[in-house]
Formats: sequence, structure tokens, C-alpha cells
Amino acid sequence: MRITPCQAALAAAIALNLLLLLCSRLLPAAPASCHPRRVPDGVPGVTVILRDFDGPEHDVAATARSFSALPGVPVLVAAEAPPYPPVPLPAGVAVLSLRPEPHRPPPRPELAVRTRHVALVPDGARAAPGLLRRMRDALEAASDGTVKVVAAAVGQRRPRCLTVEVDIKAWTVRYGLADHQSHQQGDPKSFQHGGQQSDQHGDQQSDQHGELCGTLDGAPAVLLLRTRDLFSLPFPLARPVVASLSLQAAARGWRLLLLPAAFPLAPRPPPSPHGQWRARSSLDAQHRALLERFGLKLEVLPDGSRRWHGCAKETPRCFGTVRWQTPEYLLAGRWTPPCCLRALRATARHVLAQLEAAGVRHWLEGGTLLGAVRLGDIIPWDYDVDVGLYRDDVPKCRWLAAVAATGRPVEDPQGFLWEKAAEGEFYRVHFSRSNRLHVDLWPFYARPGAVMTKDTWLGHRQDVEFPEAFLVPLGTVTFAGVAAKAPNDPRGFLELKFGPGAIENPEYPNPGVRRLAQDMGNKTAR
Ligand code: ZN
Repeated sequence: MRITPCQAALAAAIALNLLLLLCSRLLPAAPASCHPRRVPDGVPGVTVILRDFDGPEHDVAATARSFSALPGVPVLVAAEAPPYPPVPLPAGVAVLSLRPEPHRPPPRPELAVRTRHVALVPDGARAAPGLLRRMRDALEAASDGTVKVVAAAVGQRRPRCLTVEVDIKAWTVRYGLADHQSHQQGDPKSFQHGGQQSDQHGDQQSDQHGELCGTLDGAPAVLLLRTRDLFSLPFPLARPVVASLSLQAAARGWRLLLLPAAFPLAPRPPPSPHGQWRARSSLDAQHRALLERFGLKLEVLPDGSRRWHGCAKETPRCFGTVRWQTPEYLLAGRWTPPCCLRALRATARHVLAQLEAAGVRHWLEGGTLLGAVRLGDIIPWDYDVDVGLYRDDVPKCRWLAAVAATGRPVEDPQGFLWEKAAEGEFYRVHFSRSNRLHVDLWPFYARPGAVMTKDTWLGHRQDVEFPEAFLVPLGTVTFAGVAAKAPNDPRGFLELKFGPGAIENPEYPNPGVRRLAQDMGNKTAR
């Protein structure tokens, strides 16, 4: 059968009209758009989700009972597997399985919540009359549009209110002490904080006040947010709940309003030392797993101390073999993991000290010298360190001499591994036997005409011969916290190798694969 263009146009118009009619009937609030996957706003009310509990000493049944006794508050127990040993959950409390299984439809927890707001309640909390509603009112009344989460403590201890800054590119999260910023609709003087009990000031007035935080630390808390905000997150129900939600919130510029009121905490006998240790190590393991999932390898705590989650001496390095001068993390829009930069700095300092002590004439090379001149450090996306040395001086360093004589790798007393590179006539010092972050040592020698040359060329732009005059005498630059040997005219040396403007115009090693501008947004390069 043949269809004329006119018939086709008519059929299309009818189909479009039918589609529009269907959309406007399904979503009367938004007739202009028809997104079948959009989560509806829900009915008024708050659904309680119990997520943070650990067996076998958890309190999930009693916590569920307490909150499900509130009129019109649905309670869901969300877990990978039903609580075990089995607990008698009150009627109406549903278990929401989060573990995908081959014989079931995929878990869609967002479909189980029908209310407009949702509260994530920690194990052992007890309902306080009206407090969930007041949290919801505080959220909806917040004059600051960045407030997307309202929190209330559980128990007498008040959580610490911290700022959070997530730096995805640097795999880093920084916490700070929030400067007692108050948030209120009324009189700023009535702002309160401290470890008071909820019933001392759980009135409507004081709920208008609170602290604006990035995250909470040191005590459990109930978090309330709009259902659609929660399920707009890629990890809505990851544990530990407070850390997971606040890291995802920080990455979106959301903030959390901590109210003065608190929920009661169920009185429980103090746990045994072993039970305490178990709870702590379980929480610690969850926290580590969360940071691993989120690609965060360094936490800088409010007191400036650091918690590392990335590679170490006894682990493999964080990234695989580098191809096209472009490590895999660059393609993910990230720079060198901070643990790797730290290990590279440590290896570089060690190698430079060994060469210096042995009287080996050496100098920073290539991208390493570029980083030293530009910022006194390794370039934040670089993946190794390059050092040049006089080939004639190799026997002066006992580790290089041993490698040259035997052709086998040598581990020094500090655990650094010295070896002859398989790729050509140069040496490599690894951070350790298992963590292959390394410093490359390039043996140069003078050919007639006082030009420095070497035997292995990798074909990189900066890999060129240069006049020996750059090395006589050697100069000094600051690098990774030490004074390192360098060509006496670093700028002239770098412009010879990388071209004019190399110091002022940062670029990735292989712009053909990825350019720095793709990752800079509005920010300027370091
Ligand atoms: Zn690392």
C-alpha cells in the first residue's frame, strides 16, 4: 500500500495529539512535558527509612515500632538483605531489598516512597511527637535555597557541625569547623546550640533556628529531605547515611540545616568492649568503602590532619600502565591521586638525596623541571618524575652500579626498588616493589660539540639534545620541599625543550588525546 505525504502528515498529527492528551492526563501539573521516568512529587507526609543498622545487636524492630506508631508515617527498612536473625517488625513496616538479584526486578526504592518528604533515621532513635513535621516545615521555610536537608540530633550529644568541600579532580574532601553560622527567620539572638535536651527547647520558635552545616560528625542524626531530592542522587541509600548524603550534597552545593531539637535515643546497656570494637571497625569499613566508591582518596580533617584512602607502599599504584602519555584518570576528568603525588614526592626526594650523597651530577628533566619552575612541585596531573644524570657518574651510586652490573632490580633498605628500565637505556626507581610509582633516571653524555645526548629516545616533544652549557655549572630549584639540582637557565632549557611559553601555558602531556581546557571550566590552572 502506498501512502501519500499528505496522509503521512495527517497520521503524524493525530499521533502527536493523542500523545499530548495522554501526557496531560497523566501529569496534570506539567502538561508541557511528558517524562515517564520522572518521580512524582508524592503526597504530603514523611516516610521514615531505616538504613544504618548492623546485626546482631541492632535495634531496628524497636526503632520501627516507635516511628510507625506516629499517625500516617510509613516506615521502610532498607537493606541489602532482611534483618537477620529475623526480627518481628510491626504490621505495615515493609522491608525494602536493595540487593539486585537475577530472578527479581531491579530494586527501585524510589517507587516505594509515596510521600513528598523522607527521613533517614539512625538505629536506636525514638520518635518525638511533631518533630518530623517541624523538620519538614523548617525545610520548606528555609529562606536559603541551598538548604536541602534538615537534621536533628538523636540523643543528648550534639553532632559537630562541619563544612565540607569536595574536590573531585584532586580526589580530596576537606572538612572544616563551621563558624557558628545561624540560620533563622527571626531574632538572631535566639540562636542556640550546645548539648541540651530536645524538650528544653523543642518548641516551634526554636526550630526556626539552627546551624548551616556541610556535614555532621560525632553523634547520630535524623536527616529529612524532599523525596525527589534524595532520589536525584546517584547513591541515595549508600551507607553510612550521613557521610554519603553530605558528600553528595557538597558536590551539588546543597547544605544541611541542623535544628536545635533532638530525638530521644533508646536507653541501651553499654556495649561490651568487643561490641564497641566491632561497631567501630564496621563503621570504619563502611566509611572506607564509601570513599572508595566516590573516588575520594584523601580526607583533610578540621585540625589539618589527613586520612589517606589511596595507595601505599604495600599496595599497587592507583592507575595502570600509561599509554599515549595520558594516564587513565585524565580521561575521567581527574588529576593524579594525592596518594600517588605523595609517593612520587617521597621517591623523588629519596633518589635526589642518594644521587647528591654519591656525587652523581644530576638535574631535573622535562615535565618535572617544568613543575618545579611553575609551582615548586610535581605538576598536578603528572604521573612520574624525570631526572637527568651524567652517564659517567652512574658507577658512583651504589644502587645504580649494582643494577648496571647485575641487570637485576635492587631493593634498598628504605624499600625503594632500583632497576634498569625494560624500555631502553635508562634506570627507574619505584616507590616499592608493589607500588610502581617511579622516578626515571636518564643517563646523558656529551657528544662532540658539547651537546648532551643519550641512547634512548621516546619521541616526546621535550626529548631533545641540548648544549652542555646548561649544566656547567648546575643551578638549583625548589622541588617537592627540597632544593634540587637543575640546569642553570631553567627557562631557556624548558623553552628549548617544550617551546616558548611552556611555563606560563600549562597543557596536558598529549593534547591530542585530552586537553587541559576540557577540564578547567572557569578556573585557572595552578
Ligand atoms: Zn595512589
